[in-house]
Amino acid sequence: MTLTNQRQTLKTIAKRFARTRRIAHHDALDLIASKLKQPHWNALTTAWNKGWRPKPEAVEALASAEHGVASDVMAIPILGIGQGVKEHGHIDGHPYLLEIDFEVVMGEIGWWCILLEHAPSAKPTIEIYDQSKDNPILNPQFKAKALAICNEAVERLRGRIAADWPRRSTKPNADGQTQHPLSKDVASKWYCLHCDGAFTGSQMADNMWHCPKCSATPIDIFATPFWKQLNSTKRRSSTKER
Ligand SMILES: [Zn+2]
Repeated sequence: MTLTNQRQTLKTIAKRFARTRRIAHHDALDLIASKLKQPHWNALTTAWNKGWRPKPEAVEALASAEHGVASDVMAIPILGIGQGVKEHGHIDGHPYLLEIDFEVVMGEIGWWCILLEHAPSAKPTIEIYDQSKDNPILNPQFKAKALAICNEAVERLRGRIAADWPRRSTKPNADGQTQHPLSKDVASKWYCLHCDGAFTGSQMADNMWHCPKCSATPIDIFATPFWKQLNSTKRRSSTKER
């Protein structure tokens, strides 16, 4: 999986960095980029599109460094998830590997891969590595069976994440308030730093604290839109200066 889908691996590592270090997702991406000797994530993406690839050893080192951090912090219940699960199986005689961690990744190396994040609003991404007609993922029945396995896996994953959250993170109280599973703030209205959207407590609970509009991760969701206050303070002071 790592070899066929290495950029996704980097994103997955970045997500874990973000959670385990409680840093913003974009900062985690930049951190990954810098460890791979790229100035930042955008530069890495540009280089990638031009054919640059990180050395497999460097990616391996990142993944194991991250596992070191993760095992230390796994004792902290707010982080939610333990070790990933790997399962081998067959559909119509074709082998597949299913990995459940922060998201579900399923595929057959060299042929196809399905990625499904755990936010209920997330849609599966299907990557096809071989366009020949022997590739089973091009068969609609096979694809439907594979997607059904992914959906079942992501349900398990959601259950496992929610099990470690405070009850108010998954179910609003009578006043519609919910509790952020990471910050532990309690509010009935929530704001996304990423897209500026505002949502109710139950919308956030239903989408497992990912932004219902832009799918930003829980670390971008806040009870107060503090960035708006910063902007208006800035505007006020610049008006005064004029
Ligand atoms: Zn958003």
